[in-house]
Amino acid sequence: MNEKNLIRFITFTPIVVIPVVVFLFFYMSISHSEDIFNNSTKNLKQELILKEKDNTISKVKMAVEILNYENSTIKEKLKDKVGERVNKAFMIGSHIYNQNKNTKNDAEIKKMIIDVLRAMTWNDGESFIFILDKNGVFTLAPEYLKHKEGQSIIDFQDATGRFIIKEEIAIVNSVGEGFLWDTFTRANKDPKTQYKQLAFVKDFKIYNWYLGSCEYLDITKKEIEQSAITILRNINKSKNDYFFIYDMDGNIILHSQNPQLEGKNFLDSPNKNDREVAQKLIQSIKVEGKNFASYNWVNPMNGQIEEKMSYFEAIPNTNLMIGSGFYIKEINAIANEKKRELEAMNNKELNLMKIYSLIFVSLSLLIAFFISNKLQERFAQLKSDIEHKTDELLLLNEHLEQKVDTRTTELKGAYEKMRKLANTDSLTKINNRYSFLNQFNATLDKYKGSSVELSLIMLDIDYFKKINDNYGHHVGDYVIIEITKLAKECLRDSDVFGRVGGEEFMVLLLYTSLEAAEEIAQRIRKTVDEHKFEHVVHVTASIGVVSYNSKDKSIDMLKRVDDALYEAKNSGRNRVCSI
Ligand code: GH3
Ligand code: MG
Ligand code: MG
Repeated sequence: MNEKNLIRFITFTPIVVIPVVVFLFFYMSISHSEDIFNNSTKNLKQELILKEKDNTISKVKMAVEILNYENSTIKEKLKDKVGERVNKAFMIGSHIYNQNKNTKNDAEIKKMIIDVLRAMTWNDGESFIFILDKNGVFTLAPEYLKHKEGQSIIDFQDATGRFIIKEEIAIVNSVGEGFLWDTFTRANKDPKTQYKQLAFVKDFKIYNWYLGSCEYLDITKKEIEQSAITILRNINKSKNDYFFIYDMDGNIILHSQNPQLEGKNFLDSPNKNDREVAQKLIQSIKVEGKNFASYNWVNPMNGQIEEKMSYFEAIPNTNLMIGSGFYIKEINAIANEKKRELEAMNNKELNLMKIYSLIFVSLSLLIAFFISNKLQERFAQLKSDIEHKTDELLLLNEHLEQKVDTRTTELKGAYEKMRKLANTDSLTKINNRYSFLNQFNATLDKYKGSSVELSLIMLDIDYFKKINDNYGHHVGDYVIIEITKLAKECLRDSDVFGRVGGEEFMVLLLYTSLEAAEEIAQRIRKTVDEHKFEHVVHVTASIGVVSYNSKDKSIDMLKRVDDALYEAKNSGRNRVCSI
């Protein structure tokens, strides 16, 4: 990917990535909420049934609580009732006595009291006021035992064998009044059967009597049940929320939704299915005490047989059971209604989310364009910066190269100058000894073993010491410079000429035979000899000449030329000698 494509890729990425991410976020959120909705509606019916089940159970338990509570108060209520009756009878008896004690005799007053109290009966004569004297003589007996009046019943024993009358007299004599539980026969019932009852007896000292009254437990129990049932009847009587109380024989005691069923027996239902269901239910409640049953039953709302669920529980200390239930079809209707509501809500929410997603995706697109634009600007800026810096660098580089070139040229010049200085004799400006010998050695190396013609001349100024002595050192220098000029004029450019000692010179003649070299040497010698030097009368020079043979080393030639010069000196000076 080249740079341009890379920048294009980076700047366009936000435009694609940001909206896609935002879109995916909303897409996932919408799918998630759809999943939640589907899950919640899928189990809606089951949840509602479970809820209704719980509701029914707690409703029935609450009803059982109410009935239990009422039952638990039974003894208190009984006590209140009989206590109140006897106290009232006592007050009436005392009042009659007080009103008449001064005007009537005891027999008359006793009769008046007995007559008034005989009239005090309750529950169709089943409850009454009785009077006994403390010897156990029945003084006021209830209607159904009236034949016993005047007789002592002190030895009466109840069904459990207790001497009830004796117990009553003992209470009255010891504490004046009190309650006791016993069993006794009942008016309008089999005289052989005894029923549990609560008695209250109170001393009536005036006539050595005691007054009493009893209340049969059954009666109060029934009354209490009735009051509890009335409460329940008024609590629940809506279409899908009602109680039914049956006794264990199938008699319908309460049907808060359909009271005309009360008094009927659902074991006598004309419908065979109903009879079977009822039979099973009663059986299971007798055994288990409670049951949650699912069965088909007539819906009193529409007369149709429908699936129903009910919870039943036996009411403790009674032969009653209480239940409540609901029809699945009604739950279905509620579930469908709720589902519709949820659906509407969900659709509303989804539409809202879709609108939001549209807004946010559009917004994100705008932001992405903005970011992309900014990135493009930034990249363009960076690019121009880089280009600018590159130009600057190139310019700098060019300057540097120029500087390096200048410096190199300068160095080269300096080097050349140094080299020249190192190789040049400062007085005569020709090769010095070092330079001459370098070139001489290099030439000999080059032509080593060849038959090339090379010759070497060595020149020494004669009696130079005297020139210095006679005319001064500066004249000596002048003579050296003049002789250099004279010799140079006799030489070719290709000849190597150098000052190798104070007033000693050498010439290397390339491609020059010994004869030719001798000739040159003679010319030089002659030129010097004939030259008119300023201040100095006459100057001469002696010259040695040798030539190269293929076996020579440089030292050999130098030695030979020195010998030749020595010979020229020895043989009279101002001459040329060759070897
Ligand atoms: P000969 O004929 O035997 O060569 O005699 P000569 O006097 O020339 O003897 P020699 O070669 O021994 O003397 C050379 C003298 O040259 C000695 C020295 O003072 C002198 N000399 C050497 N270099 C220079 C120089 O650069 N300038 C001057 N003025 N004199 C120099
Ligand atoms: Mg000399
Ligand atoms: Mg000399």
